[in-house]
Amino acid sequence: MKCPACKGSTLQTIHLESHLKAAHCPACEGKWITADDYWHWLEQHGDTLPEKEPEGIPIKAADQQQAKLCPDCQRIMLRYKVGHGLNFRLDQCGSCNGIWFDANEWEALKQRNLHDEVHLIFSAPWQSQIRKDEARQLLEGIYAQTFQTDYAKVQELKTWLDPHPQRAAILDYLASLDPYSIQRD
Ligand SMILES: [Zn+2]
Ligand SMILES: [Zn+2]
Repeated sequence: MKCPACKGSTLQTIHLESHLKAAHCPACEGKWITADDYWHWLEQHGDTLPEKEPEGIPIKAADQQQAKLCPDCQRIMLRYKVGHGLNFRLDQCGSCNGIWFDANEWEALKQRNLHDEVHLIFSAPWQSQIRKDEARQLLEGIYAQTFQTDYAKVQELKTWLDPHPQRAAILDYLASLDPYSIQRD
């Protein structure tokens, strides 16, 4: 089986974890795990480990951005964002469901206990949560830039105002340039 990232080299079987074998590329350090091997390992592995912050320095993964062909069935693999602060994508073959990990991607996932949730990363709810998180980050950046040093004050005001029984009246009062004038035009 040839490496999907550097093509010329041949993948070699390694034991990645106990009960988990992978096909490893000695040139780029990428790893291929078949769907069967992954599910078999997950069964042996037991309960899902809770996600955690990395201990020590976060492992940096080498995300090879080009599209790759599945080393098993030669179909173009799809790329899925991992999210949760990990800035790389995993490649999965939509036909045989095998997974390609670029160098250190497995290790970076393992450092966060996300290696036993890889199957969920490819799911619609996981991907939709990533889009929500990204939108939130984008808006946070815009608010921070707009409100600058007043941002904390604005947030505090909103926290106070949101549950207030007179919220609508207070907003009208604030929005009006002259709330003491009954003239409406
Ligand atoms: Zn390679
Ligand atoms: Zn495939």
